[in-house]
Amino acid sequence: MKLIPALGARSQRGPAEWFTGTVWRDASPPQGSPDVAVSRVFFEPGARTHWHTHPEGQILHVITGTGRAQREGGEIVEIGPGDIVYFAPGERHWHGASPNNPMVHLAINPATTSDGGTDWQEPVTDKEYAAGE
Ligand code: MN
Repeated sequence: MKLIPALGARSQRGPAEWFTGTVWRDASPPQGSPDVAVSRVFFEPGARTHWHTHPEGQILHVITGTGRAQREGGEIVEIGPGDIVYFAPGERHWHGASPNNPMVHLAINPATTSDGGTDWQEPVTDKEYAAGE
């Protein structure tokens, strides 16, 4: 057993190179075993990721609030507490809060052959984001 206490960990502001709007992340770095990276991500209303992919895919588990997610070429979907979203390896997508409410999700990234990271791309434009309204 290994406990990584929340107290003493420092939440980090999501950088503007990766996110639109204000985002905070509580990350647990890959520990070697199990081969997964887990982070809790807080999106303020209107905040979202840039377009991106994950080399080994990603599972999102929504904790609270209301949000949006979209894979390239697909419809924007509304997501809420308890919803689970899966993105396949290399599938281009974004996720974030809805315009008027915050959203918090766990991001679970398999890290068996990679660091479970993200390949960041360009911002989701206001027009792309507003397509969900
Ligand atoms: Mn993602």
